[in-house]
Amino acid sequence: MTRPASAKRRSLLGILAAGTICAASLPYAAVPAYADAQTDTGEAIIHADDHPENWLSYGRTYTEQRFSPLEDINRSNVGNLKLAWFYDLDTNRGQEGTPLVVDGVMYATTNWSKMKALDAATGKLLWAYDPRTPGNIADKGCCDTVNRGAAYWNGKVYFGTFDGRLIALDAKTGKLVWSVNTIPKDASLGQQRSYTVDGAVRVAKGRVLIGNGGSEFGARGFVSAYDAETGKLDWRFYTVPNNKNQPDHAASDSALMTKAYKTWSPTGAWTKQGGGGTVWDSIVYDPEADLVYLAVGNGSPWNYKYRSDGIGDNLFLGSIVAVKPETGEYVWHFQETPMDQWDYTSVQQIMTLDMPINGEKRHVIVHAPKNGFFYILDAKTGEFLSGNNYVYQNWAQGLDPKTGRPIYNPDALYTLNGKEWYGIPGDLGGHNFAAMAYSPKTGLVYIPGQQVPFLYKNQVGGFKATRTPGTLVWT
Ligand code: CA
Repeated sequence: MTRPASAKRRSLLGILAAGTICAASLPYAAVPAYADAQTDTGEAIIHADDHPENWLSYGRTYTEQRFSPLEDINRSNVGNLKLAWFYDLDTNRGQEGTPLVVDGVMYATTNWSKMKALDAATGKLLWAYDPRTPGNIADKGCCDTVNRGAAYWNGKVYFGTFDGRLIALDAKTGKLVWSVNTIPKDASLGQQRSYTVDGAVRVAKGRVLIGNGGSEFGARGFVSAYDAETGKLDWRFYTVPNNKNQPDHAASDSALMTKAYKTWSPTGAWTKQGGGGTVWDSIVYDPEADLVYLAVGNGSPWNYKYRSDGIGDNLFLGSIVAVKPETGEYVWHFQETPMDQWDYTSVQQIMTLDMPINGEKRHVIVHAPKNGFFYILDAKTGEFLSGNNYVYQNWAQGLDPKTGRPIYNPDALYTLNGKEWYGIPGDLGGHNFAAMAYSPKTGLVYIPGQQVPFLYKNQVGGFKATRTPGTLVWT
């Protein structure tokens, strides 16, 4: 695409400036502005406000604040908006995606993991790619064959497919560059599990980051990082320990073996069902802390008494885990829902922002997971700074002001007390996949919250572990 000469000149100046000062490691604010989105996507995402006409990654920037500085549409003229174009999708199934826009081209993923490239100004289809996701896999996922979005990186677009592939396409032509299966045979469980991929992939530092879903079907969560150029697996982080406390030859081994394993009963049903903890939505790279944050899901099976004999916090379920982008090495974690038995995933959108706390500017993570509490954490260390409920909730009396650990309502611990529990939030959460946003103008975070209760019950006749992949293990 032709760029204005002035923009080209500014790019060149930016690169020249960088060449003189970037030999040493400097804070990211010192790297060149006006990076070209098509050849230097990482810098372009960091400096997204220089080209606000683009939407280069799932949450617009690495902060995932989703705030657009564009002002041509405003409060005075929004009422005059009229339909400019529409593109009729070839399915009536659900759409949950955020399209990307790169220099006038819109990249949208649709149901059944299909990819479309459209002229953003006219809606004209430029190319389409159908990965031919097998139709019989639809019953292997809990919540429709949706796809929440793609990632763009240096001339390629990347997306996951519902049957677990990660696909790289040439962004200009839509031609396949590479495709890999992200779902390994699970050595610790001795079988292929029923993982599905519907989340948006992210790219940082030349690595494509992809998680998966499937905790309700018996899964052991993990996130993988693939080389964006070649599709070669770079690292993998499991969110639940190996059931024999053995290494998986993964970067997560040492944290899982020393920290996580002892938070599980060695004889619980998790040893057969994988334990859950799938990372199906939020994976965020933070250039300021130089960390990748993983948002970890619920336990499998749901029933804590069966899953872990009613013992332990079950790390890293219901947690945010920070790892190094180059290796996947564990750095810190913060568990929002220990002893999960309510499907209280912490997979919801992770957002970073800078805010004053006690007169000091802090770089923080803000998070509104399913459990109904809004958390503020130090982004570099995971330190709990504050937490309050953002919807009505009845499962906790509050959070410990020092540690952030929930103070449980004893009635909510239905798998331990054997009684039914009418909980709110329920399994759909106070906040789910719908993205929240932050306005630097108001200083407010806007959460698409919901109030949906659920009747939690213990399985009649006791839990029977299934050995058949793809069978629901709901309770
Ligand atoms: Ca779930």
